[in-house]
Amino acid sequence: MSVALPSIKQLHQILPDEPLLMMGAGPVPIPEPVAAANGIVINHLGDTMACIVEQVKQMGAYIFQTQSPWLLGVAGPGSAAMEMAVVNLVWPGTKVLNICNGFFSQRLSEMSERAGGTVERLVVEDGKSADPNDVRKIIEKFRPQVLTLVQGETSNTTFNCHLPEIAKTAKEFGCLVVVDAVCTLSTMPLPMDEWGIDAVITGGQKGLSSIPGVSLVAFSETAWERIQSRKAPCNHWTLDANLATNFWHRASYHYTAPVSGLLALHEAMRLVCDETLEKRFLRHKVCSDALQGAIESLGLDLYVEPEARLNSVVGLSLPPSLSAQQVCAHISENYRVEIAGSFGPPIVRIGQMGEQCRVHNLFRALHALGSTFNDLGVAVDVPLAMAELENRIQSSKKQTPDL
Ligand SMILES: *Cc1c(COP(=O)(O)O)cnc(C)c1O
Repeated sequence: MSVALPSIKQLHQILPDEPLLMMGAGPVPIPEPVAAANGIVINHLGDTMACIVEQVKQMGAYIFQTQSPWLLGVAGPGSAAMEMAVVNLVWPGTKVLNICNGFFSQRLSEMSERAGGTVERLVVEDGKSADPNDVRKIIEKFRPQVLTLVQGETSNTTFNCHLPEIAKTAKEFGCLVVVDAVCTLSTMPLPMDEWGIDAVITGGQKGLSSIPGVSLVAFSETAWERIQSRKAPCNHWTLDANLATNFWHRASYHYTAPVSGLLALHEAMRLVCDETLEKRFLRHKVCSDALQGAIESLGLDLYVEPEARLNSVVGLSLPPSLSAQQVCAHISENYRVEIAGSFGPPIVRIGQMGEQCRVHNLFRALHALGSTFNDLGVAVDVPLAMAELENRIQSSKKQTPDL
């Protein structure tokens, strides 16, 4: 043998003895039914799978709040769903306005360019929501056919709070609106039809609390008409929305569906439906407000102003003496809590997406965060912050008894 047999450790020798609490910017902890479903393999075609696909579509209609039948899944990360939205709606010469608030919205812009679009960018100051007046001015001048934006820019924890108005303006000019809701779907309102959105993108491992690797995109009827009007098919065979209807609408073969991941997603969506969107939004709002207040009680600064602050992931500014890497490594090694650094600003990010956003997880994360700062020589008042978290949650409990 020219290649020697490698010496391989077993997984349990590599993984931590005790699972880490995943409080970063995704993936997030998964509920037990999701984990169990992820361990099952069934035929990717046939009646059982057809029934599962049908239910995923029905639950999708509720979670995306759309009557449009064009919900499609994709075997791939949130980025594959982003690419599926972009490459089906953008082709050489398509005028695209990308609203760029950070890393992920910039990615949508790169994808638009690669698809051959004629791209114009509105680069928004870090930590600010895009201003609807700025967007209107560019739309009036540039007359884009497609506009992309993120609802929540996970990378710097910014919320595009003026999304409804921006979508309305785009509609006025006959421009399609593509929204990346990977971190926000099911954590805050995004009524697709009511706000006139033409494509909503999501991934599994964030707001929905499923596993990474299976994602969804919903197209409006108007977006679907544009896709049907194409002269040349989209360059990506796997991401072609028309081909995807073979599996998603005709119970037949496009490519072998990620069966286990799809079952997991089914369970994650079922849990969202069991909870109801109203209660889930409220849970995120209450828990995030409480955590934000508690972090401020530690004496730390939140990165984004309240108006444009996400309640699915919160960013806190670091004192100059600490690096994100140092904080994330210390909290992981000593408290078994994972949080995230960022791809740009000097912040660390704590996620509150789906399963992260449970009271017991917030207490553990806050305690671990405060203790980490103390350990690393930045004195903070952990008992005060823990009390603040408890007080805020108690005072919200009246509204949300089953928090
Ligand atoms: C995580 C994320 C993505 C990318 O998802 P991947 O699964 O990493 O490809 C895109 N957009 C937003 C807003 C995200 O939070």
